[in-house]
Amino acid sequence: MSLLTVKHLTKSYKAGKLAVNNLSFELEKGECLGLVGESGCGKSTLARCLLRIELIDSGTILINNQAIEQLNEKQLHPYRRKIQIVFQNPSAALNPKLKIKDSLIDAYSQYKNDLKLVYFSYTSKDAYVKQLLEAVELPSELANRYPHELSGGQRQRVNIARAVSIEPELIVLDEPTASLDVISQGAVLNLLTELRECLHLSYLFISHDLAAVNQMSQRIMVMKEGKLIDQFSRNQLFAEERHPYTKELISFFR
Ligand code: ADP
Ligand code: MG
Repeated sequence: MSLLTVKHLTKSYKAGKLAVNNLSFELEKGECLGLVGESGCGKSTLARCLLRIELIDSGTILINNQAIEQLNEKQLHPYRRKIQIVFQNPSAALNPKLKIKDSLIDAYSQYKNDLKLVYFSYTSKDAYVKQLLEAVELPSELANRYPHELSGGQRQRVNIARAVSIEPELIVLDEPTASLDVISQGAVLNLLTELRECLHLSYLFISHDLAAVNQMSQRIMVMKEGKLIDQFSRNQLFAEERHPYTKELISFFR
């Protein structure tokens, strides 16, 4: 079943240049769909359009077959819960003035009225925060610290905990490990894979790193200058019919 359907999505920042150019794809429930392409090709713009951080010029975005691009903020509220995002820079996404536990409770507070938790349970704030930290393999002492008292890898785990806290259906991961060292990168990718299985999540995993995308995803899309130029299942990565640009990306990561 299609969780996310995007049809002819187009977005420009200034007239004449399309950051996202007539993009169409489907993301199935439960899958990790990879999106790869060089810096500036429009990946983050697509991510921000899906989250309605940016308004689109034209096209359709359907979540569970419901078009959302025309919905007002109130109508959009339940759909906002279904899609969460993890950004590249883990520091920018956390409020530096809030203790980790207060950042972790934030999404729950916004959605608690129509939230039915399946994997986590809310008995008290402390108990809930403890479960979230456990889910991302962080010690519970971190709850009372501020973001600047954590490492980059720990901060990104907090962002992941925040994204999963309200049990969304889809998480858009926009280069979630690009600012981390190689060891933390591998650990965070493994954690994301585990969480996807345990919490039955779907991912749109965005990266300029074809190797990371290939490790994480069942299907891969390749974007160039705002357009989708190739898409294939993981085992077709090295197939002869790949787009010349995909082959270029492959040779770059060999
Ligand atoms: P990627 O995430 O693949 O690196 P982006 O989506 O960030 O690519 O950028 C796509 C294109 O849109 C680039 O040419 C970039 O310069 C431009 N762009 C991105 N954000 C903005 C913005 N807020 N205002 C104007 N142009 C932007
Ligand atoms: Mg980007």
